[in-house]
Amino acid sequence: MLVEEFLKDLEELIMNVLDSRTSLEELSGWIDQSRELLQDPLLDDADAREKLDQLIDYLKPTVELPKERALKRLTNALGMIERYRSWHFFAKPDPSQAKQLSLDIKSARGVGPRREKLLRKLEINSLRDLVFYFPRDYEDRRRVISLKDLLLGEKVTTRGKISSVEMKSVSGMKIVAAVLADGIHHVLLKWFNQEFIYRQLQTLKGKEVYVTGTVKKGMFGGLEIVNPEVELVENSSALEILPVYPLTEGMSQKEFRRIVRQNIDCVAIVQDELPLELTERRKLIDLAIALYGMHFPKTTYQLEKSRERLAYEELLYLQLAMLFSRHTLDSIGGVAKKIEGKLAQEFLKKLPFQLTNAQKRAHEEIRQDLRSTRPMSRLLQGDVGCGKTVVAQLAIIDNFEAGFQAAVMAPTSILATQHYRRMAPSFENLGIKTALLLGETNKGEKERIKRLLRSGELSVVIGTHTLIQEDVEFDNLGLVVIDEQHRFGVRQREALISKGAAVDTLVMTATPIPRTLALAVYGDLDLTIIDEMPPGRKDVKTILVSVTKIDQVFDFVRKEVEDGNQAFIVYPLIEESDKLQVKAATQMYEKLSNEVFKDLRVGLLHGRMSQQEKDAVMEKFARGDFDILVSTTVIEVGIDVPNATVMVIENPERFGLAQLHQLRGRIGRSDRQGYCFLVVGNVEEEALERLKYFASTKNGFEVAEYDMKLRGPGEILGLRQHGLPDLKVADLIRDKQLLFRAREDAEFVMKNLDRFKALIEKIEKIYGERLKLVKVG
Ligand code: ADP
Ligand code: MG
Repeated sequence: MLVEEFLKDLEELIMNVLDSRTSLEELSGWIDQSRELLQDPLLDDADAREKLDQLIDYLKPTVELPKERALKRLTNALGMIERYRSWHFFAKPDPSQAKQLSLDIKSARGVGPRREKLLRKLEINSLRDLVFYFPRDYEDRRRVISLKDLLLGEKVTTRGKISSVEMKSVSGMKIVAAVLADGIHHVLLKWFNQEFIYRQLQTLKGKEVYVTGTVKKGMFGGLEIVNPEVELVENSSALEILPVYPLTEGMSQKEFRRIVRQNIDCVAIVQDELPLELTERRKLIDLAIALYGMHFPKTTYQLEKSRERLAYEELLYLQLAMLFSRHTLDSIGGVAKKIEGKLAQEFLKKLPFQLTNAQKRAHEEIRQDLRSTRPMSRLLQGDVGCGKTVVAQLAIIDNFEAGFQAAVMAPTSILATQHYRRMAPSFENLGIKTALLLGETNKGEKERIKRLLRSGELSVVIGTHTLIQEDVEFDNLGLVVIDEQHRFGVRQREALISKGAAVDTLVMTATPIPRTLALAVYGDLDLTIIDEMPPGRKDVKTILVSVTKIDQVFDFVRKEVEDGNQAFIVYPLIEESDKLQVKAATQMYEKLSNEVFKDLRVGLLHGRMSQQEKDAVMEKFARGDFDILVSTTVIEVGIDVPNATVMVIENPERFGLAQLHQLRGRIGRSDRQGYCFLVVGNVEEEALERLKYFASTKNGFEVAEYDMKLRGPGEILGLRQHGLPDLKVADLIRDKQLLFRAREDAEFVMKNLDRFKALIEKIEKIYGERLKLVKVG
């Protein structure tokens, strides 16, 4: 047992005793037992050993002491543990060895021309870059497991003497084998195609070594370790936590570690820019010790504290940027809209369904925002199919009643057109003049729409990013609705908002984002979540099938069509290559319409078709004139054809799960059972695992969270697209609590701006671009 584990458990036990959940006797028994198990290189340090003994001796007599005094000791012991940690758990840089962080990497210790080149390849050009180049993992070698305790499958460091080293050739492969033994037990060590090991091992023969690697079962039942690392026991530095870096070819871990070790002391003079007030409040360690600890932590404790320190800083800056841009927006001010709600009532009366409670709540929140003088900046989130469109419609109607125009921006022409079709009739019914403006709208019509928008005769315009063009002007724009926001960059959002004097913004996204992540990425927006599906929806059945069974899938499709339903067949291929997608979809369309589904009505939809063509196809499919729609991913976002019950997706492994969830969301939009077939060919185990998870999970938030764990939230949310830098240390999933703290502190800073001038300057430096955008708006 390591000292840090001992103290952690001890701390917990003491707390339990203080809370009367454990007895003093139990505590004392545990101490006796556990101290026997202590084994830690930390205890080679006489002072560390002595202080630990003192702590234990201090606690021992508590069993015999009067209750009050015993409890007093326990409380004191908690403080002693804290102090012990700060004294003995941290490795620190040596300031006397520190060089300037700005030093070019070619002048760093241990770096010659060859290494310089490799380092530059890793984008390490200065000492600063080097110390901010963090490990991707760590190997904990502090614990030495004796040979008799080796367990299958575990990565361990064990100890023994090397004997009988030999090398043989098996079907062209050089295998080096050696035996590691401690006199009673032994294990086989094996290296493949590493002849140099053979010579190395000869020199180690008969000497005590540490061996690190994963224990496996050998061919003849015995235990073996393949490709282990071997170090002489004399070299005591082997017993520590070692960093594992993401490296490039030609640079080994050992080599890189040595370079970092030789230069790491420069962190001693790094400038810590976090205000003391915050670091003290959150008990964060110094930046220098954190940077040191990221590379060579003395304990897991130091590593955790180091990560926490650096992650907090990243998250704080991020939250400050968000709040700062929100602050700027608020200071511009808005108009309090007068909404009676009569029009909305009229609209609701004609709706063929009742709003869900979640929809009602969302509408109410938005209405409050519109009525307030603070400009609305709200994110409307909800799983696909929860009915966000109606809520947006209600917002537009309220806004109209107050006397303002509205603009609805969607990422694709298909979606904009669909919104127009679904919204316009009910708007016109209420006397709200509505138009559709797309890039491909003909010139005369475009001019007419722009004129009417300028004069105020048109009240609502629905369109694509055409809407942000300069010559689209409004008489009195009061509300902007942005659909499927993750497709738009921040710039585009802001460009549209700037077209009115006091615009309220409603952003809708169907990529379900867990609340914490929403805070991180949309931290400048208020959040409304629709967490309820319209009644009567059945969960879509998701089925993984092998491509060899595609005929059965097609049979199923046919049966559904015969029952009066419709189907999508999607050929995603690689997203970047639109051309390839079109080719695949087109070829399959030929085959399906001429052979497999010769007698059915098959349509084709892809991104290279003209808008008129796309519209015509979508319209026909929506009307039921096609039974089957063969498509690329154009249909991914937002399309609503409730009569479609089957979705067949080929090459689903090429997609992130969040995207697949979008696709799946196209069906199951009525009370009929929906089916989603994932047709997989030869895919890797990992991809299959992912798809299986997806098939078994219907909740979009869970899917998104799983996906983010695998691919990182940056990837999925497109942090860069949001004008945000990647987070290097913070992990938006693991560091949830830290994120909340950073948010709280950022709010504190915003309330006390004059006290944190330097910090704000720093934020402006990092996020200047993004903040400027907001200011312009
Ligand atoms: P999304 O949130 O994915 O954009 P939509 O707004 O497209 O969802 O709505 C999905 C479908 O559910 C539409 O056909 C819509 O008419 C229908 N719908 C929305 N709200 C309700 C409700 N409260 N009850 C029944 N059906 C609803
Ligand atoms: Mg939608």
